[in-house]
Amino acid sequence: MPEGPEIRRAADRIAAVLINEPIEEIAFAFPELQRFGKLLRGATVTEVETRGKAMLTHFDNDWVIYSHNQLYGIWKIARRGKLPATRRSLRLALHTASHSALLYSASDISVWPRDEIGMHPFLARLGPDLLSRPPQWQEIATRLDEREFRGRALGALYLDQGFLAGVGNYLRSEILYCARVHPARRAQTLSRAERGRLARESLAVTRRSYDTGGITLPPRLAAQARRESGAFERRRFFVFGRDGHQCYRCDDVIRRGSMGSRRIYWCPTCQSDSGP
Ligand SMILES: [Zn+2]
Repeated sequence: MPEGPEIRRAADRIAAVLINEPIEEIAFAFPELQRFGKLLRGATVTEVETRGKAMLTHFDNDWVIYSHNQLYGIWKIARRGKLPATRRSLRLALHTASHSALLYSASDISVWPRDEIGMHPFLARLGPDLLSRPPQWQEIATRLDEREFRGRALGALYLDQGFLAGVGNYLRSEILYCARVHPARRAQTLSRAERGRLARESLAVTRRSYDTGGITLPPRLAAQARRESGAFERRRFFVFGRDGHQCYRCDDVIRRGSMGSRRIYWCPTCQSDSGP
């Protein structure tokens, strides 16, 4: 399941072929959307925004296409006139003079006036997105202390898209490790310094994963990890998928557990469960 960094990179690829090129042709597969074809033909894409796992394609005439890939949706980019060989059903096609951006298999697509997009029921309950329009770290620190979030265990909170959009399962383990806080701790038990560190690491780890294509280890450790044999996850992450292996910071061994019905990893020494 792709997380914020993977969605943002897909958005970058789409933006690279669509932005500032007039849309010559546009096709919606769903009958209720076809009337928007006339409205968007000839318009120009100004931005491809992501909010968590949703993508917003903004047009210069103040309309926006909302799409969510859910489990099966996938975007493909092609040269104009060269449709990829696939058995998937094409749901949305945007064609410029030179390229096509094609959305297959997704069923959650709608078109909105820009002023009203915030009322989309999925977007309305999303927290700030860490990549498309990232908040300041202070805003995340404040959020950690809000009544709605402060009583919850961090391991659960970091999967809640209403808290921060785009953090998924591997990012939550990596962010909590880098901030040195145990997943079972509640936000209200964090010191001011810990809250600040967690807020800054939320941004930094997500950003690094975006920049590197899904590697949260910094360059020196990533180079070291690549030389070791092992599973895909062990060569990319500090803790995720590394249960039974030694922590990069101390002599302890990474543990694996389950929170929110999904696997989570931590170092029992670096991430104390009782605070500083
Ligand atoms: Zn450790």
